[in-house]
Amino acid sequence: MTHYNWTNCGEIMHVQVHPYVFYLAISTLISLLAAFIAWWRSAPGSFTLRMLLLSMAVWSGSYAMSWLDISSPAKLFWLKTMYTGVVSIPVLYLIYVLQFTHHERWLKPLHVSLLFVIPVISLLLQWTNEYHHLIYRSINSLDVNGMLVVQYMRGPWYFVIMVYSYAVIAAGFVLLIVGTIRSSPVLRNQYYQFLLASSIPWAASLYSELNFSTALAMDLAPVSFGLSGILFAYSFFRYRFMDLIPVARSRLIENMSDGILVLDAQGRIVDINPAMARLLNNESQFYIGKNVSSVLKDWWEQISTLLNDDTRTELRLPHMPSRYMDLRMTPLYDAQQNLSGRIIVFRDITDRKQVEKDLMRANDKLHTQLIEIGLLQSQLREQAIRDPLTNLFNRRYLEETLERELARAEREEYPLCIVMMDIDHFKDVNDTYGHEAGDIVLRTLAETITAGSRHGDFACRYGGEELVLVMPNINIETAMDRADELHQTINRLYIPYGRFNLSITISVGVACYPDHGNTKEELLRAADQALYAAKHAGRNRVSIYNKSESNDIEALEIM
Ligand code: GH3
Ligand code: MG
Ligand code: MG
Repeated sequence: MTHYNWTNCGEIMHVQVHPYVFYLAISTLISLLAAFIAWWRSAPGSFTLRMLLLSMAVWSGSYAMSWLDISSPAKLFWLKTMYTGVVSIPVLYLIYVLQFTHHERWLKPLHVSLLFVIPVISLLLQWTNEYHHLIYRSINSLDVNGMLVVQYMRGPWYFVIMVYSYAVIAAGFVLLIVGTIRSSPVLRNQYYQFLLASSIPWAASLYSELNFSTALAMDLAPVSFGLSGILFAYSFFRYRFMDLIPVARSRLIENMSDGILVLDAQGRIVDINPAMARLLNNESQFYIGKNVSSVLKDWWEQISTLLNDDTRTELRLPHMPSRYMDLRMTPLYDAQQNLSGRIIVFRDITDRKQVEKDLMRANDKLHTQLIEIGLLQSQLREQAIRDPLTNLFNRRYLEETLERELARAEREEYPLCIVMMDIDHFKDVNDTYGHEAGDIVLRTLAETITAGSRHGDFACRYGGEELVLVMPNINIETAMDRADELHQTINRLYIPYGRFNLSITISVGVACYPDHGNTKEELLRAADQALYAAKHAGRNRVSIYNKSESNDIEALEIM
């Protein structure tokens, strides 16, 4: 960074007017123009870039002024002004590189302030040099062949500035190179542009530094700012240099797992992201410009509806078994509301589909299981109230239901009769023909009773071979008739068992509400006593409850 064309021994020669001024002026104008363009952009880092470009303009502008045919103090003034740009450029450059390479988190206010410490001290020393001579040890004006020549001797702080500036610039450069290497292909051109734009002045500066021995050598760095400025300005228009947000967006699309196709109004592919290219098994470049129908030919039939009105569809990929895609189309319109293109997003929903299927299957299974449970429950309910051998209601059901029936009979004021039956000498059937024969007899008896009962009657197995028929809303006479009828029917039964025809007789006891009892217990006891009376009287008969007879029986039982 040679900003002063000193000779090795610290001598400088300034010609009064020189064509070099012209180049510097152009360079200054271009830097200003680039700063002006940067003004219009609000992207992150644009403020720093603006400051950087302005510092470049200050440097080259002041340098140009110092080359004019002016007095020695005026020359000195412009050279000091130039210094403002010289000391701030390296720091501004580093800050901009940090912003450009997304290292903003390093730019804490304290860090930025620290970066500016040496430049600020340098500027103060510059303007107060005559008191300490830290930057220029001596300044002399000479008249050489009619030309005003200013002679400087470097002071110690000059070297501090030089070392600091080159260190800061080197740091920025390294960061930029690392950033370029790591950049995504979308951003790479911007990085190259930035590298080139910033290499030119540093190369020029280095070149001038190495050729410092030439007496009338000039610093090429400020001239080269113009070239950098042109590059920056070009980048703004060509690559939308500072629009980091669209860049972030395109990077997002690059890295998305969803496939994206951008079509023009004619259905030609104008953009395709890597995920989509992978799905189609070829490089992105291969598809650009091709018609979407030819590229997606296998799927076209399913997708073509998207180009009409639909904005969403599902696609099953024919060549990839059981892979499903969710497709969304967004039409793009120009300012005149004409269709200018379409974006189609392909999202792999195979996993979701699988989950949906599993869920549906699980749901079906659950549904079947619920039906089964319902059936089992009703079976269980039946089993709880039915006797498995005869399929008649069991004793528990009888006791529960009889209570309800009696309450209703009382409420609606009608009589209710119960008929209790017991097979005579049933033990003999078991003993003679076996238990199986006894079971068949019991089942046949149950069927016969059920067949002969009216709607509203119900038969129960009360004990081993004791059955009860409950008949609501029936008077005693009719109940007796029904009991007789049942008795005779049963007596006439021939029950086939192997080569035998079994026949039985039964004893029957009848008791009625309200005449023979009011409660379930009273009524069942009355029927039982009537049955006992029938047995006592010689079996094979029907007997109605008789209180006095019962008292005799009870007396007999106690004895
Ligand atoms: P009676 O009633 O006339 O006094 O004589 P019984 O021989 O019928 O005597 P009881 O009523 O005391 O005997 C009942 C018999 O019924 C005893 C038992 O073996 C038989 N029994 C009870 N439950 C079943 C059954 O479920 N199956 C079969 N096969 N026999 C049964
Ligand atoms: Mg019996
Ligand atoms: Mg019995």
